[in-house]
Amino acid sequence: MLHLGKMQVEAALFFETIEEIYARVFREVRPRAILPEIIVRYKRYANANSRISLQNDRLLVEISDLLQSAPSPIQEALATVLLRKLFGKPPDKNCLAQYRRYLNRAEMRRSLHLVKRERGRKRYREPQGLVYDLELVFAKLNEQYFHGLMAPPALGWSLRASRSILGHYDPCHHVIVLSSALDSADAPEIAVRFVMFHEMLHLRYPTENRGIRRCVHTPEFKKAERQFDDHLKAKQELNRFIERKGREYAAPDR
Ligand SMILES: [Zn+2]
Repeated sequence: MLHLGKMQVEAALFFETIEEIYARVFREVRPRAILPEIIVRYKRYANANSRISLQNDRLLVEISDLLQSAPSPIQEALATVLLRKLFGKPPDKNCLAQYRRYLNRAEMRRSLHLVKRERGRKRYREPQGLVYDLELVFAKLNEQYFHGLMAPPALGWSLRASRSILGHYDPCHHVIVLSSALDSADAPEIAVRFVMFHEMLHLRYPTENRGIRRCVHTPEFKKAERQFDDHLKAKQELNRFIERKGREYAAPDR
């Protein structure tokens, strides 16, 4: 553990468990209420979120495990923030500020960023759609254009049928997601293949500092894109599909 110095002193002074901290703060916030059973759990969240609920005389607190090593004054500040919120009381500004300062410390921000990357799950549907199987689409394109040498990333259909973003490659989570609007009998196979091919080229030609949304198409990329068999027809079919869907093809991925 890193900040042992302070923790040991505090632990020695107070000998308070996390549940005892919540019990003490509970009595401060609700002096006349019966003390519920208190359960505090550390969860592997993708952020520093905390949840609190009171049901059947049981107070359940779920805190990010990133805060497991936080010193007790920070735990107490968070307990105050959560319990006041639970009981609809105005926030204690000092506690809130103290807690936020702790989260904003450089090393905490770094841990949060890492954890977000590692744990923040991309949400998408499995690649086997109703009409198209993205694994098959990928495998065929891989054979045809990449000598079967491209290691497959995660593949999936978007949860919402976006017509503006037909596909994207997320380098952070190493996944290609296609809009589930394309998983339809209306969507010509060549259009689906072309969107997948486009995203595969993003793996093939990674750009530096590319955010999740922004995507850069270098001249090299565009040249490679034109290698797609019948690439003009593919674009046409794609545009027609979008028009049929009643929307303009305003893909930010262009
Ligand atoms: Zn692109």
